[in-house]
Amino acid sequence: MLSAVLVAAAAFEIVALAEGVHVALVRPDPPSYAFANALIIEDDETVTVVDTHQSLEAAEALIDEIATLTSKPVAFVINTHWHGDHVYGNQVYRDRFPEVIFIGHRATRAEMLSAGAARLSEELESLPGSIEQRAQWLASGIGPSGEPLDVDLQQRIETSHRLRSDYLEELRELTLTPPTLTFDKELTLKRPGKTIRVIHFGPAHTRGDVVVHLPDDDIVAVGDLLEEGAFPYFGDAYPAGWEKALNGIGALRATTTIPSHGGIVRDPRLLQFHFRLLRSLRHEVEVAILKGLTLDQTKEQVTLSGFVADLPGSEEGVRTAVERMYLEQTEELEP
Ligand SMILES: [Zn+2]
Repeated sequence: MLSAVLVAAAAFEIVALAEGVHVALVRPDPPSYAFANALIIEDDETVTVVDTHQSLEAAEALIDEIATLTSKPVAFVINTHWHGDHVYGNQVYRDRFPEVIFIGHRATRAEMLSAGAARLSEELESLPGSIEQRAQWLASGIGPSGEPLDVDLQQRIETSHRLRSDYLEELRELTLTPPTLTFDKELTLKRPGKTIRVIHFGPAHTRGDVVVHLPDDDIVAVGDLLEEGAFPYFGDAYPAGWEKALNGIGALRATTTIPSHGGIVRDPRLLQFHFRLLRSLRHEVEVAILKGLTLDQTKEQVTLSGFVADLPGSEEGVRTAVERMYLEQTEELEP
């Protein structure tokens, strides 16, 4: 389908990493909601895809893109965790490959069906209002801060209006499709010609994150456990566990790391940066707790100022991180 191919060309950049291994790097400002990179792993008989995009259109586009690489069917989809930008496209794979097996941590399945379902309902509720608001800005020529729209802002609001409208239509068709093959610690797919390890290092960015390790190719896809270019999202996180998970990733000693958000990483400094950030967060929050500070006082005091320069979203992000660490250390987070 020509339109899908055009979408694919604009949404992803497909990069070969090793024999039979490609990454689909999402481009900035994609034409549909595609925010997380996908890994495409080919063995002698089938294809395994890691993460499936937020929009169904993007999932369709990636499947079309895979078809240009190989005629083998997608037999396995691995979800790194339950967030929508990693799993909403699952149903497209089920429709296109009825035999496909969805693999994820036990907690990912559970959270998709609970927190994931709740978040989907929230999105369905809030999107119409945000679309209507953009329509009003465009109709009145007055932008969100009361300023007259210039050409650039008008175009950005038009794009946002179109993306949100398309996305809302898709969400109305969405059936959450959770992993059907779940595990607790580690699962190894011994495929002909390719070994794929799926490893859970404990609760971290969410309760059930997994990394996908290709030992023969020295590649690891880490989901949202490492993030390039933005402050990590802690809204559902277990920060002390996250620190331990980073130790696990480091011990794999992979030379190529694929975070879901950002580019291909071959420099160990990204892992070191996240590790230092999490260690400082834990240390500073522990000190605050020992001093008897309340949660609100701790959020005022711990700013991680040495880590947040130039990282978008960090001010609110740090407050969330501190809150989650505080609750985790005072054992108020659900394990
Ligand atoms: Zn996430």
